[in-house]
Amino acid sequence: MKRPPKRGFSTLSIHAGQSSDPATGAIVAPIYQTSTFAQEGLGRNKGYEYARVSNPTRTALETNLAVLEGGALESTSAFAFASGMAAIDAVLSTLSAGDHVICQDNLYGGTVRLFNQILTRFGMEFTYVDASRVENLEAARRPNTRLLFLETPTNPLMRLIDLAACSKWAARHGLLTAVDNTFMTPYFQRPLELGADIVIHSTTKYINGHSDGIGGAVVARDPEVAAKIKFMQKAAGAILAPFECWLLLRGVKTLGVRMRQHDANAREVARWLASHKKIGVVHYPGLPDHPQHKLARRQMSGFGGMLSFDLGSRARAAKFFERLRIFSLAESLGGVESLVAHPATMSHAGISAKERAAMGIGDGLVRVSVGIEDCEDLISDLEQALRAV
Ligand SMILES: *Cc1c(COP(=O)(O)O)cnc(C)c1O
Repeated sequence: MKRPPKRGFSTLSIHAGQSSDPATGAIVAPIYQTSTFAQEGLGRNKGYEYARVSNPTRTALETNLAVLEGGALESTSAFAFASGMAAIDAVLSTLSAGDHVICQDNLYGGTVRLFNQILTRFGMEFTYVDASRVENLEAARRPNTRLLFLETPTNPLMRLIDLAACSKWAARHGLLTAVDNTFMTPYFQRPLELGADIVIHSTTKYINGHSDGIGGAVVARDPEVAAKIKFMQKAAGAILAPFECWLLLRGVKTLGVRMRQHDANAREVARWLASHKKIGVVHYPGLPDHPQHKLARRQMSGFGGMLSFDLGSRARAAKFFERLRIFSLAESLGGVESLVAHPATMSHAGISAKERAAMGIGDGLVRVSVGIEDCEDLISDLEQALRAV
């Protein structure tokens, strides 16, 4: 892949992989809505043969994401998938029956469902540990362990995993480290530069940023690992369609400005919530009393737009949701509009109340995806809704 010269994040997000169309000069990468490509003769083509294998709109997006997530590293490659889950499945499909994966506890619920209800049926083994301590990883390691699977910050409690320490431990034992970087995006956190081998995104969230498409991506540092992911993409075929790639190319151009605003708004909202008398702990890595605030400052260049807090009971949370006017109650996150969610009955409904309580997810817990609306409006909406609680 041709690498652009080293430039700032937003310059790269707007230009990497997105040079004007060679055929027409179109400034925006066209949507190549085609399933196949005419070949000039036997064994002669313009680099494209069949659109499951590759498509120019997808190539533009994959080039862009590889550059953004790869940062200072050479030879990273990216692959776009039909959803975040398809991306995670492709990574796991490079393993075999009998292989063991160490996962941090508190992974995205869909990830745990895929691992425990599907991949275990194909003979893969998973152990979940508190990965905030490297000793716990060591205790879980077996001769057949192949992969360490991490996600930081976690959903919905915003706990952090030390990516440099965990990746270093994994590399010492010949294991690959995969990191779900959906919450931070490469704008705030670049796991590959911290030693991880594979980064995964649900592009549905911040990379798209406008809540109008489902998608996923895998970025790999090592060409050998990348070749395996590329093979899975072609062989299993869970590719991202050209129109969806185009939406992501459009979204990614404003990733930098959007993330800065999500971060600025969330810092202010978190501070305001933390000082409100009806609210106890606010889980946000940008607050100085977050237990891993120091680690957050070290491994991330911002704190992002996600936070959570507890209203004490389901009834109080329900009342709060009913009163909100700007925030919508909805699954998902990372779009320009602010959303609230109720983990106990939404994302974590499949987990027993007892297990949820042990995880620290109470019935009054509210998760917030702080959007990029005017912050005063967000705070006055929260204020009037809290008055009813
Ligand atoms: C949403 C999400 C996923 C799953 O992505 P889809 O695009 O919904 O398939 C995986 N990981 C995290 C952290 C997510 O937030």
